[in-house]
Amino acid sequence: MPKTPAYAAPAAGKPLAPFSFEQREVGPHDVLIDILYCGVCHSDIHQARDEWGGAIFPMVPGHEIVGRVKQVGQHVTKLKVGDMAGVGCMVDSCRDCQTCRRDLEQFCAKGMAGTYNSTYMDRKTPTYGGYASRIVVTEHFALKVPEGLDPAAAAPLLCAGITTYSPLRQWNCKKGDRVGVVGLGGLGHMAVKLAASMGAEVTVLSTSRTKEADARRLGAQGFEVTKDADTFKKLSGRFDLIIDTISAPHDYNQYLGMLRPQGTLVVVGVPPEAVPVHAFSLIGGNKRLAGSMIGGIAETQEMLDYCAKHNIVSDIEIIPIQKINEAYERMMKGDVRYRFVIDIASLERA
Ligand code: NAP
Ligand code: ZN
Ligand code: ZN
Repeated sequence: MPKTPAYAAPAAGKPLAPFSFEQREVGPHDVLIDILYCGVCHSDIHQARDEWGGAIFPMVPGHEIVGRVKQVGQHVTKLKVGDMAGVGCMVDSCRDCQTCRRDLEQFCAKGMAGTYNSTYMDRKTPTYGGYASRIVVTEHFALKVPEGLDPAAAAPLLCAGITTYSPLRQWNCKKGDRVGVVGLGGLGHMAVKLAASMGAEVTVLSTSRTKEADARRLGAQGFEVTKDADTFKKLSGRFDLIIDTISAPHDYNQYLGMLRPQGTLVVVGVPPEAVPVHAFSLIGGNKRLAGSMIGGIAETQEMLDYCAKHNIVSDIEIIPIQKINEAYERMMKGDVRYRFVIDIASLERA
């Protein structure tokens, strides 16, 4: 196979630049996908800047991948040439441990193979993500993207979509539930759309008033500003469930105070630093503090089919790959409505 054109971060915090790498040949269980679009997740920034530690460079980020199947191995049954396919945050796992057998490949006992900034299960070969023209992936980790979904706007479903769908399902979000969504970015705006589609009464908690009209258009009934200390008093004891998508350190204790007794705060945002939680924030009201990481492959397929049925995709701004460093800067300022998606055809100009 010819070398695969891509964009990579050469070292921690360095601007992304053109790069190319060797892609493995298509094996009997593999599919080769010509990538059309790749969403830009805040996790791409955390990792390209090595904010979580242990990053592997050069790094080709991107785990919100949608494209057309170009070639399939002889044993592939899930997809055929010409199908619209997706790849999310994982490209392999052992597929044999208890956790994998329970469709929770993201917690594989042997450690899943992340789509980038990771290694394949041989624990040697580096993985490269979706800021590239193609990807080879074992069929189990390729998703079927329903043809009814716009491919560019569907790309963010592969991470932002599943990461918010899964906790809403785990905590049984239903009609009449009061759900708070903290942070209106890529994940947050998907949480609003999905929770609203499940019948919840959604309130967005944002750092400023600027996104209020958008929040209501996305399906929120309430909107409150977290820079205003009165908000935490006013909403004390209000929510059944809070989905916290904030990418920077913040005080979880304040948000726990907005839960009703036995309510749950689910952390999905991954700030680089730890923040202390006081026992009193939890014991008064039997509150639950939980976390959630993406979703397994079966649940990701369920989410894609759910989105097709309910006509849900991401609100996107399409960018050429040449604008990726600028896009990162804009995301750091909260200036994205609500997901950048790279048009991979622009790689040919690199
Ligand atoms: P994003 O589009 O940049 O949105 C993050 C939002 O957080 C911003 O729009 C902003 O909302 C809010 N925010 C940012 N800095 C803040 C601060 N200092 N104080 C308060 N609010 C702040 O990011 P994303 O792609 O949605 O990702 C969000 C987080 O989830 C990242 O940490 C990412 O790594 C993580 N993530 C986790 C998983 C998982 O499996 N758990 C999967 C994907 C991503 P407002 O403008 O409304 O204030
Ligand atoms: Zn992501
Ligand atoms: Zn496993």
